[in-house]
Amino acid sequence: MNNTFDIQLSGHRSSAEERQRLLENPGFGQVFTDHMITISWTEEDGWHDARLEPYGPLTLDPATAVFHYAQELFEGLKAYRQADGSIVTFRPYANAARFNSSCERMAMPPLPEELFVRSLELLVDTDRDWVPTHEGHSLYLRPFMIATQRGLGVNSPSSSFKFIVIASPSGAYFTGGIKPVSVWLSEEYTRAAPGGTGTAKCGGNYAAAFVAQAQAVREGCDQVVWLDANEHRWVEEMGGMNLFFVHGSGSDARIVTPALTGTLLPGITRDSLLQLAPDLGFPASEGRISTDEWRAGCASGELTEVFACGTAAVITPVGRVKGAGGEWTVGSGEPGPVTMRLREELVGIQYGERPDPYGWIH
Ligand code: PMP
Repeated sequence: MNNTFDIQLSGHRSSAEERQRLLENPGFGQVFTDHMITISWTEEDGWHDARLEPYGPLTLDPATAVFHYAQELFEGLKAYRQADGSIVTFRPYANAARFNSSCERMAMPPLPEELFVRSLELLVDTDRDWVPTHEGHSLYLRPFMIATQRGLGVNSPSSSFKFIVIASPSGAYFTGGIKPVSVWLSEEYTRAAPGGTGTAKCGGNYAAAFVAQAQAVREGCDQVVWLDANEHRWVEEMGGMNLFFVHGSGSDARIVTPALTGTLLPGITRDSLLQLAPDLGFPASEGRISTDEWRAGCASGELTEVFACGTAAVITPVGRVKGAGGEWTVGSGEPGPVTMRLREELVGIQYGERPDPYGWIH
C-alpha cells in the first residue's frame, strides 16, 4: 500500500481543560489521547485500510485468534516536547526494525518501516496537544499487532492481522528524585530459553513474568532479575529493562552489559548507551556476568555501580540485590556518578538540551 491514511477525526475530542487536568499528573499508561491508528493485513490484500480514527474500543469475535494463542507483539517508544515547543521521537526506525524482527519470530507479517514511522508521526501530529510540556514528561507510543482471524485452529498462524498505535501521556518516572531499586534474582522462574521468544517483544513473555515479579515483591524487592534458563547463573535482564555493570571508578570506569544471547530483549536504550558511553570516556562492552561474580565484585569494590535501562525510566540505579543465597548492596546503595552522568546525557539528547551527533532524534 502507499502510505495514505483514511482520516476520521470525528468522535469525542477532549476539551483543553480536560486535557490539562489529565496532563497534570498522568502516571504511566493510564491516560490515552483522542485518536489511534489502525492498519489491516490479509493474505489476499497485504497491508491495507490504514486509518486515523477516534480512540475507542475494538469489537472482536470471542474466537479471534489473539485471545487464544497470543499471537501478538508490541513496541514502546516516546515523543518528547522540546524547549521550542516542537516534538521529536527517539530512534523510531530502531523500534520499526525490532518490531519486524519480532514479527519474524511470531510468524506475523512485517510492516514496512516507513509505514510504521509514518503511523507514529501522524498520530503524534494529530494529538500534539497531548504531548506534555512538564519537565521529564513525555508521550508514550504503543504500536502493537494482533492476530484477528476467527477460529480455533492451532496448526497455522492467523491469516489476518491488525496493526494499531495508541498514545499515552506519561509523567516523570521518578517523583521526588532518582531512587535506586532493589532486585530479586529469580531462580525458580525463567523468562526465556534458547530457541524461545526472549528476543521478541511479544505479550506472552510478559504474561509469563508476572508470577516472578510478584515473588520479587513478596521477597521485599522492587524488580525481578532474570537468569539464564540452563544454569540459573548468568544474568540476563531486569523486568522490562536491560542491565549494565560499572567496573572501576573515575577515569578508570567501564561498563559491561549482558550480551544478546537470544534470550533477552535487544533494548534500544541499551544499544544507545553502548554507543554513547565511550564518547563520555567510559569504555563499553558486552559480556557475561554470573550472580557469584556480581556478589564478589560488590564485596571487593571492583563493581562500583549497577543500573537498568529502558524507554520508560531511561536509567534506574540498582541499589540492593537479593537471591536464595543471600543479599548484598551495590556500592553505597545510592545512585553512582557513572549512572547519573549517562542518564543526564541521554535525557539531554531526548529533550534537545544536548547535541545529537548520532542522528537519534527524529
Ligand atoms: N527488556 C525488556 C524485557 C523490555 O520489555 C524492555 C522495554 N522495551 C527493555 C528490555 C528495554 O528496551 P528499550 O530500551 O528498547 O525500551
